[in-house]
Amino acid sequence: MSGCIFCRVAAGEIPAEIVKRGEGMLAFTDISPQAPTHLLIIPTIHIGSLNDAKDPTLLGNLVAFARDAAREAGLATRGYRVVINTNPDGGQTVFHLHVHLLGGRPMHWPPG
Ligand code: 5GP
Ligand code: ZN
Repeated sequence: MSGCIFCRVAAGEIPAEIVKRGEGMLAFTDISPQAPTHLLIIPTIHIGSLNDAKDPTLLGNLVAFARDAAREAGLATRGYRVVINTNPDGGQTVFHLHVHLLGGRPMHWPPG
């Protein structure tokens, strides 16, 4: 979708540090990292938010991709957090579905 930042990352029009590519998926580093490892995992097709994700297979693949990225980043044993912020109360600011993968430090609960 033209004008969507993450569609433009997927198209290579905006530079990003891509750390993993998969079938219809991409993982890249967040521009404003909130943890030593902070990756964003996106489907390359435009889906606005979790509310708009109709395909459970795509969602499963996205989470499995995040899990694999965590393992490859060396986070599996110590642990990590995956987050999908959705719409304003969820803190979503970029309206292209994405999974945050955060790790490399202990996470707090409850989140803010
Ligand atoms: P949200 O708040 O929607 O859950 O997360 C959006 C994330 O995208 C934020 O963590 C923000 O730092 C990141 N972000 C926004 N613009 C860019 C960009 O142009 N490049 C990258 N790599 N990350 C971005
Ligand atoms: Zn998009």
